[in-house]
Amino acid sequence: MKIKKNTGEEVFIETSSIDEFKANFGGQLFTESDTNYNEVRQLWNGMHDKKPALIAQCSGAADVIASVNFARENNVLTSIRGGGHNVAGSASNDGGLMIDLSLMKGIRVDMDKKTVHAQGGATLGDLDRETQVFGMVAPAGVVSTTGIAGLTLGGGLGWLRKKYGLSIDNLVSVDIVTADGKLLTASEKQNTELFWAVRGGGGNFGVVTSFEYKIYPVGPVVSLCAPFYPAEEADKILPVWKDFMESSPDEVSSNAMFWTIPSVPDFPEELHGRRIFNIVAVHCGPVEEGEKYLEPLRKISTPLIDLSMPIPWLMLQKMFDPFFPKTEQLYYFKSTYLNDIDEKSIEQIMPKAVNPPQPMILIAIWHNNGAMSRIEDDDTAFTGRQSKFLFSVDAIWNGHENTQEVVTYANDFLRELREFSPGGLYVNFAGLGEEGEDLVKSAYGKNYDRLVKIKRKYDPQNLFRMNQNIKP
Ligand SMILES: Cc1cc2nc3c(=O)[nH]c(=O)nc-3n(C[C@H](O)[C@H](O)[C@H](O)COP(=O)(O)OP(=O)(O)OC[C@H]3O[C@@H](n4cnc5c(N)ncnc54)[C@H](O)[C@@H]3O)c2cc1C
Repeated sequence: MKIKKNTGEEVFIETSSIDEFKANFGGQLFTESDTNYNEVRQLWNGMHDKKPALIAQCSGAADVIASVNFARENNVLTSIRGGGHNVAGSASNDGGLMIDLSLMKGIRVDMDKKTVHAQGGATLGDLDRETQVFGMVAPAGVVSTTGIAGLTLGGGLGWLRKKYGLSIDNLVSVDIVTADGKLLTASEKQNTELFWAVRGGGGNFGVVTSFEYKIYPVGPVVSLCAPFYPAEEADKILPVWKDFMESSPDEVSSNAMFWTIPSVPDFPEELHGRRIFNIVAVHCGPVEEGEKYLEPLRKISTPLIDLSMPIPWLMLQKMFDPFFPKTEQLYYFKSTYLNDIDEKSIEQIMPKAVNPPQPMILIAIWHNNGAMSRIEDDDTAFTGRQSKFLFSVDAIWNGHENTQEVVTYANDFLRELREFSPGGLYVNFAGLGEEGEDLVKSAYGKNYDRLVKIKRKYDPQNLFRMNQNIKP
């Protein structure tokens, strides 16, 4: 069988090596000749059509170890798939091995310890579903189909970031198969440097088979504030939102977004295609308190429509899912941190945010503060905690012929905002990672050198390179 090596060359691997791998494998191995191959290889972003020579769909940690050993011994180009959501498409590759964790979705809540163990192929929806059985939540992101693995290893921003911090701030331990094929536990007590690195350092250090998170009582119902204002009024509304958020308690996390109302029955027909400015704020405390507290955000101007309501946590977490369908659309998310939202930055943001080249381009401004900012940048590999805002161009469009225009728009937009940024970006919103090492250095800032040292220890041959790669 032909397979691509880490060096880029294609080589033949003896059938006996594949047979040996297969004999030791509990899950399923797929090659192009298998009927389900095309289904199994699909990533969420329709931009990518990668064809790995071999897909190792693992059933547990033993399969992951077998896959890592096979990859290392044969020096095979290797990628890791958790939820398959990353816009860069780094979960897959052309011609190499994809270690696929999508069957590994086991989750167990421990109410004595107030933690949850979740396997590396679980999605946010899987995690919420199991923890909500106990009225609990592990802080993660805002779209339920996203994989917990990639999201957590890059940081993990969601509706509880001000109250409980990022996903990594709630990690108790990980089980991880490193490049030498060993299954290690990393925590504050064991393999502590590795534990520091996986909290933000992405998939650079091994395959995480299981995550253990702290959980908190949240829901079953929380308060959602979601007024949709005309996009052209955003310059008046943004300063009010900013002041409100800066004085709000940790219970409130919020994003401000430019978006276009899609032509779907959930929205009144007369608003279909209307560019809007949407405040989404979530209060995770008692509902009556939340409703009352968030009310001023609904009255900054006259909303075109207001979807504010008390909402079950599980429904909130799925609210955006329909607008991010798998494979049907093309996606490019790219970000930068902003020092402030002031008159000058708003003036710079408005024209491009109000008039994007493709209607479904979403511009998101994440207000970051509270618990996530009370942790120092060098306490975990993740940096950017002290920046009050994360600005992200979440481009969604149809038709490969429009890709160049959209990518250019996103990058021009971020370049124009450079003077308002302390530098850095969120690795989970890194576009296609086109800037390579420069992007990674910018994302990790002063933590970069420490990450390189840890990479040298755990993956000296850079087996895990299909990611925002920290070179050993
Ligand atoms: C619609 C949408 C909504 C999003 N919302 C949020 C949000 O609310 N908050 C937020 O913080 N981010 C969000 N993201 C970004 C998201 O965190 C990243 O795309 C993340 O990489 C997705 O994880 P995944 O497991 O699905 O990715 P995959 O594509 O499967 O993997 C991405 C990379 O992660 C690494 N990886 C995956 N699994 C493992 C593993 N088990 N062990 C080691 N490495 C692994 C690999 O390097 C892989 O290349 C969103 C993305 C999308 C597309």
